[in-house]
This record gives sequence, structure tokens and C-alpha cells, in this order.
Amino acid sequence: MSVRVRLAPSPTGNLHIGTARTAVFNWLFARHHQGTFILRIEDTDQERSRQEYTDNIFEGLKWLGMDWDEGPYYQSERLDLYRAAIQKLLDAGLAYKCYTSAEALTAMRDAQKARKEAPRYDNRHRNLTPEQEQAYIDEGRSPVIRFKIDDNRVISWKDMVRGTVTWKAADLGGDMVIARAAGDGIGQPLYNLAVVVDDTDMNISHVIRGEDHIANTAKQILLYEALGGTVPEFAHTPLILNTEGRKLSKRDGVTSISDFKSMGYTADGLGNYMTLLGWSPEDSTQEVFTLADAATGFSFDRVNKAGAKFDWDRLNWLNSQYLHKLEPAELLPLVDPYWKEAGFTFDLDADAPWLNPLAELLRTSLTRLDEAAPTAELFFKDAVDYDEKARSQLANDGVDQVLEGILAALPDTLDTDAAMGLIKQVTKEKGVKKGLVMRSLRAALMGTMQGPEMVPSWLILHQRGVAKARLESALAIAQD
Ligand code: GLU
Repeated sequence: MSVRVRLAPSPTGNLHIGTARTAVFNWLFARHHQGTFILRIEDTDQERSRQEYTDNIFEGLKWLGMDWDEGPYYQSERLDLYRAAIQKLLDAGLAYKCYTSAEALTAMRDAQKARKEAPRYDNRHRNLTPEQEQAYIDEGRSPVIRFKIDDNRVISWKDMVRGTVTWKAADLGGDMVIARAAGDGIGQPLYNLAVVVDDTDMNISHVIRGEDHIANTAKQILLYEALGGTVPEFAHTPLILNTEGRKLSKRDGVTSISDFKSMGYTADGLGNYMTLLGWSPEDSTQEVFTLADAATGFSFDRVNKAGAKFDWDRLNWLNSQYLHKLEPAELLPLVDPYWKEAGFTFDLDADAPWLNPLAELLRTSLTRLDEAAPTAELFFKDAVDYDEKARSQLANDGVDQVLEGILAALPDTLDTDAAMGLIKQVTKEKGVKKGLVMRSLRAALMGTMQGPEMVPSWLILHQRGVAKARLESALAIAQD
């Protein structure tokens, strides 16, 4: 089986998590079968499509590692193909020009509503006589093109996720518009028609898309038949739901991949999480995996029918798993923008001797990259702000002695052994408890009693050249 799948986003907004998850499933399926993953930009809606959204989609897909093998194709560059297909349907008597006015359509829908019927076009212009048609043309009316839907048909397909799906053609809303009006010619071709022409032309073997497209699939199957194309296989993936169990929407706040990125999620963590939105590996205890690994075991047999609830805790946990494993050389470029935004001054190359241990110290406490700014702030500041708890620690008896002892014996270069040795030495020398020395150092160097481990923090501050000044200013407070 030669697998050719496509992602067909409309550039009417930033890359949405739902579209990205569809991309992930298409990509996994393509990679599993050594198939081809195609990118097609569905930009026929000129009013709503924007270049910045197209750029955002490319950026998001690349960031996630969803590399495509063919495309991007742009529907806006393929309009002739759609018009030719529409002409073919007109010539074959499978489509017709409909002159029904907007007012007549509204009146028809209002009447249907009053009768508590579902809105549908009543096919009133399906069989106009040439005279009737001429009369509308003379009136200057501009027709849409409608594709005839036989209400008696029942459409059925074997969905890779949902099993057999059956739709009554009578529930599809009457003859469907496949092109907008434009004078007396064929206007802008519409979604269902363009998709079928493209999927046929691009030899798409499997259409993998969100469950919200099921009714479109029924319509599209009728169009494949009418245009003589081969009907592909379909997989309708479950919707992503918010915590209340409703479809995740813009109202839920963060929904676009660029938002997740700027919130500090990693591409690997988010990609891993999206894979689990509806799919689970054979060994369901396995939660952390690369997309390449997931591709090896991917099949639609393990994709759920039920909606997938978006679980922030699980996403955070997965993201932290990736962050905890990152080497300084991998983590530093990722936190760099957050540190810059926070106004920290540093140079990734020149400051590597203290930034590398800082990255190592911070990574295990991070859930999201943005947390690296507040957590690291104390290392970047030149002077410490001593909070109340630190001040009260510094006011304890003996602290001035401890700090004096440390300062007196502070070597130029400090490593873990030297730092521990120094702590031990001062403990003994001053006859105090080790805890007092540790707490005094923490208060003096970090200005707060919480935060990252003390000794590695000390070494970093020392390497940065600010430890001594901090110990001195703490001593001044302690002596006060
Ligand atoms: N342009 C459609 C969308 O963004 C594509 C649906 C499909 O995959 O056919 O939802």
C-alpha cells in the first residue's frame, strides 16, 4: 500500500492545537508506512486567509518536527483545476446554476424553522427551464453552482477510527453549493469541491482529519463518485475537549501552537503530549517517547473514538520530563529568550563557565521554560535583595562570625569539595552547628531561604564573581 496523506490547513488563524494534532496523526501514519506527508494550504477564502497565518502554520509545523515531503501546495493557485471540475459536473448534468436570491433563501429557512425542520435548500432551481433561467439572467441575477444530492442515497464508509459510518443523503441539507456567484460565470470554488479535486489529483490514499468533518466526508464521497475519482480511506480523529468536556476553543485561552511555545513548552514535550491525545501505545504504561518512536507503533486501531480531554497536568508533567533531561548546551538556547525578555545580561559563550552549571542546577526544577526566568533571577542580579526571612536569619547570633570565617578563608577558585571543606572548617572553628553555616550562606548569597540547592548555587555565584560581594554585604547586615 502506498500511503499518501495530507494536512490541509486553512490559513485563517494561527496553527491550532487541533490542526497540529491532526498533523501529528498524519505524520505518524505516513512515517509508519514509509509514506508521503503532503502539506496543502486551503486558502481559497481570500477574505479570511492571511499570509501571516500561513507563516505561523509553517513555523509551528517545523518547530514540532512535522516535516512534510511534498508541498506546500496552495489552493489559490489551483482554481482553474476546480473550475474545470465544476464545468465537468455542469456538462454532465450533475450540477446546475441556482439563481435563488438571498431573500428567498432566508424566507425558506425561516419557514423551515417555524415548522421545526432542519434548514436545507429545497432544490427549487434544480430543474429550471431555459426560459426561466433566461429570465433570471435578464434580471441580472448571478448564480451559485449547486451539486445535486440524491436524497434517497445512503452514504457509508469504513472509518479507520469509527468503524462503519452511515449518513443519509437527505440529512446533508439539499443540493450543495460548490461555487460562489460571480457574474454569469463560475465564482470561487468552495471547500468540499476543492478538497475532492485535490485529494484525487494528489493521489491521497488516506484522509485523516478531525471528527468535525464527518458530514463533509459524506458530501465528498458523492463528489468523488461524480468526478470519477477513487474514494480514499478515512480516519476521523476525536475532538480535543476542554476540562468541561466541550470542544476546545479560542475561549479556552491558549489554543495555538505558537502560544504553547511562548508559554515555555518544548516541541518534544508538546509533540509527545499531542500524540497521546486520542492515541495510546501498545504498552500503555509508556508515556514518554519521541515522535519517531511513536511512528513505529502507530496505528488507528489504537485511536479512541471518544473525545480527548485536554489535561494540563499531564502536558506539564511530560514537558518537565524533557526539560529534566536536557544538557546545558540544549537547555541554554531554549531559556535564552526568556532570560533576555527578563532583562538579564549574559553571553551564552563567554559566560558558559557559570551558565552551564546554572542550567544543570535549574533543569530538574523546571516544568516550563518560562519558569527559568524567575528561578534564575538571583544569579543574574548584581546585588541581592534580602527578604524578611533572610534578614532575620542574618540577625541570628553567630552569623557575623560565620560569614567572617567564610570570607577569611575563601579561596579564589571554589569547587564542591572546597566549599564543603570550608563549611566544615568554619563550623568547627566557630563552634556552631553546620545548619547555621548552611542557612547563613543561603541567606547571604541568595537573599531568600528558598530556592535551588545552596552549594551548587554558591559555586555558580562564585564563578560569576559576585559571591564575595554578597557575603560582604550580608556581613554588614549581620553586624548591624
Ligand atoms: N481546510 C480544512 C480545515 O482546515 C481541511 C479539512 C480537511 O482535512 O479536509 O479544516
